[in-house]
Amino acid sequence: FMPVPSDIDIASSQTPKPIKVLVEELGLAGNEYELYGQYKAKINLNVLDRLKTRKNGKYIVVTGITPTPLGEGKSTTTIGISQALGSQLGKIAFACVRQPSQGPTFGIKGGAAGGGYSQVIPMDEFNLHLTGDIHAVTAANNLLAAAIDARIFHENTQTDKALFNRICPVKKGKRTFAPVMLKRLQKLGINKTNPDDLTSEEITKFVRLNIDPDTITWQRVMDTSDRFLRRITIGQNSTEKNFTRVTGFDISVASECMAILALTTDLRDMRERLGRMVVATSKHGVPITADDLGVGGALTVLLKDAIKPNLMQTLEGTPVFVHAGPFANIAHGNSSILADKIALKLAGIEEGDEETETGFVITEAGFGADIGMEKFFNIKCRMSGLVPDAVVLVATLRALKMHGGGPEVTPGNPLAAEYLEENLELLEKGCANLIKHIQNAKKFMLPVVVAINQFTTDTEAELALVRKIAIEAGADDAVPASHWANGGAGATELAKAIIRATSKPQKDFKFLYELDKSIVEKIEIIAKEMYGGSDISLSDRAKEKVEIYTKQGFANLPICMAKTHLSLSHDPKLKGVPTGFTVTVRDIRASVGAGFLYPLLGEMQTMPGLPTRPCFFDVDLDFESGRVLGLF
Ligand code: ADP
Repeated sequence: FMPVPSDIDIASSQTPKPIKVLVEELGLAGNEYELYGQYKAKINLNVLDRLKTRKNGKYIVVTGITPTPLGEGKSTTTIGISQALGSQLGKIAFACVRQPSQGPTFGIKGGAAGGGYSQVIPMDEFNLHLTGDIHAVTAANNLLAAAIDARIFHENTQTDKALFNRICPVKKGKRTFAPVMLKRLQKLGINKTNPDDLTSEEITKFVRLNIDPDTITWQRVMDTSDRFLRRITIGQNSTEKNFTRVTGFDISVASECMAILALTTDLRDMRERLGRMVVATSKHGVPITADDLGVGGALTVLLKDAIKPNLMQTLEGTPVFVHAGPFANIAHGNSSILADKIALKLAGIEEGDEETETGFVITEAGFGADIGMEKFFNIKCRMSGLVPDAVVLVATLRALKMHGGGPEVTPGNPLAAEYLEENLELLEKGCANLIKHIQNAKKFMLPVVVAINQFTTDTEAELALVRKIAIEAGADDAVPASHWANGGAGATELAKAIIRATSKPQKDFKFLYELDKSIVEKIEIIAKEMYGGSDISLSDRAKEKVEIYTKQGFANLPICMAKTHLSLSHDPKLKGVPTGFTVTVRDIRASVGAGFLYPLLGEMQTMPGLPTRPCFFDVDLDFESGRVLGLF
């Protein structure tokens, strides 16, 4: 192995081609993209219309074993495979990844552009503002938050008549409704379009949402890990007349607006989803939506550009879509449906075309297969209707040895000797975790290829042992790959294994659970089948939520578990394959617009904190060259 320079040094030593060149290589027409600077473009959704008769390319999801806090190289492998397929084997190959949050970039984990010679470039633009999509999500979320508290304030300080006069003002002698208000009238069953026809009883019903402040689930968000905002009191200025309320901030990438951006299929669908997001319950038990607050249209406008996937490139000039960034532990952890759909069409071929070869779309699902992959199938694929062709499961010897009983792996500290020297015993024990994830992936009836992400200290005997165990456990193949050190060339054998796995006749892909099961049954299936738990236990609050959501008609939504990524169980300390544990559900929230219920397991936080030694210590600007230093 040659010594590998730092990620940012590799990334900035390579001059990317102008994105316009890539866009033209992909055959996109002039009205199908918008340039954002030299190296990024947004792709317009109209391309889906033009390509609608094409058959999709092959759809591969990249997931991993239970990671250490350092990450086991899923992003790196996603990029490495696409480089191998695209620049080494001459296929059309897209990588689809999430936009990183500034929380981890400046906090514990660093950036997410891949690593070594498998990266998205320019990596500073990728890791920081990109094209502003996360900022747009933050703006939309917080407009809605402001609307809730302002509405409660106005309702509490004004008479029905005053509220009506302001909500439906008289303009040029005529009282007027904003169109979004007509939606509200319809919901109330009042079939009138002229506000002057409303009876005083109807006026009261119409102007008073009667939000019960204790039921508000909508939080404010920002994309910085700022633990001191987890719980705050708002409204403390005298102008708010003592209408104080305890609330908090989540990180932007855990927000429902972000989930919607990732799950939506077109602008109309996004408008509908944003409008039906439930933020609270009224004093009469009615769910209150963004459209009740009159803000659904404005939220759509704030997100109308964010909905277009961002195109970038790898170090080897192959295409990468970077779009949406929901966290995998506290959100659904997958990049956007729209980016995958566009990539699948661009990698696809016309029916009957026997000249062209089908291309590949490599999409990444966050954290281990128990979290990101389970949500990829049961939430993302269910909503998109797309059927994947194979699962790539990333494993490292480092994480396997940790699961076998190796010492704790902590960010910033050097690795213990066990991880740097051959240790077949520890490794074999730890492979239990890999076996469980292979079995989990097989439950969805898809081919599974294990990618052993090679580190320079791995030995031949160790790699051979993992390969043998993986194949015995039912993996279709298991291949060591050195794309981190060698770029696409290091992953050609892995890429060939993926091509073989996806050329076999497919079995029938299936979901883990059907939606018509009860909320509790669905949680139980995931907890037992994916995590290996023996039972589940709901807090009183969670039980109460099950009752409310069932009564409100939300019981048929899929489940998005908020769970630690550091263990198959809900307890980050339990390594390997824990058994006999009871999964505790602390609370359940509903993301009605995104379309899932969101149980919180164990002590999951929806706003991370900064570590004592944050990544931002290393970040600075080189004034001579204008280069960003210290991102990785
Ligand atoms: P994940 O997506 O699984 O969280 P990443 O791909 O972001 O993991 O990788 C985590 C970190 O590990 C990155 O800093 C990356 O550069 C580094 N890394 C990944 N693969 C290797 C490897 N084979 N050797 C050394 N470092 C690696």
